[in-house]
Amino acid sequence: MGALKVLYIGGTSFSGSTFLGAALSQHPQLFLAGELIGFVRHHPRTHKCSCGRLYHECSFWQETLQTWQRKTSLSLEDYRTLCDRYERIRAYPSLLSPGLPKEAAFRQYAAASRAFLQVLSELSQSSVIVDISKYPTRALALSRAGIDVVFVHLVKNGLAYLDSNTRRLYVRHYEDNPWWPRWRFWVRSALEWDLINLLAMDVSRRLPGLRLRYEDYITDPAAAFARIGQRLEVDDLADYGDRLRRGAEIHFGHALGGNLIRLRGPARLSPNSSWRSRITPTQRAIYCLLAGWLGKRYGYPC
Ligand SMILES: [Zn+2]
Repeated sequence: MGALKVLYIGGTSFSGSTFLGAALSQHPQLFLAGELIGFVRHHPRTHKCSCGRLYHECSFWQETLQTWQRKTSLSLEDYRTLCDRYERIRAYPSLLSPGLPKEAAFRQYAAASRAFLQVLSELSQSSVIVDISKYPTRALALSRAGIDVVFVHLVKNGLAYLDSNTRRLYVRHYEDNPWWPRWRFWVRSALEWDLINLLAMDVSRRLPGLRLRYEDYITDPAAAFARIGQRLEVDDLADYGDRLRRGAEIHFGHALGGNLIRLRGPARLSPNSSWRSRITPTQRAIYCLLAGWLGKRYGYPC
């Protein structure tokens, strides 16, 4: 087994990261851990493993946590507090500070994170942990903690994000705030898409990695996997992209967090462009005004 690496998939939600992470992790050297940022930050009961059990009922995650607890002086709750401090978007400026590695709290965060990922690597017998947390800040925090991070900035057409996120925000907020005009959700989503992608671009300049368009990996997974394999120094990753193109079943293992497709059993490559039929002229106008300039840089015309 090679030295531990983290393959971090960063960018906005709803970009196909769960399926991509799982498809890459069909390679025995890679293990899909899921959205680790959610695992360490949220209430345990919200976490369901891909095996169908809550994480505290899943034998793999229980063994991981118990082994990790023997190697660290921090409780899980204290570790969660530190993750919250260093991995949130607002932590970004402090993550760039040259003095960060000297901070006692950051040293605790760094040691506990390294131990956690090392335990995951040993128990999964994989040298590459695939973390689909998306938040660019977590990738930077892990890198500053001394972890070898390869950062994949995954992008998908911003109109698709607007569609998915609007529906999510609408459900979450509209009942409590019925006076909110719909355009407010669209403006918020377009600005969020800008912010997360700009942060991901900044992290890309600081960490080894690559930018990958959802539409490209769906069309030619072997080429996308070859690029990622080159960065990870995993020679035969392209073969798994080719199997994906030919309809191989993708299994989700013991991933925590991520798209709910992971709880529905094995999946196959299936491009999703249903958002195109739902986008309204007003949504498109708001997106083009606020995020079109960035979308064009990724090759998405308005
Ligand atoms: Zn499990």
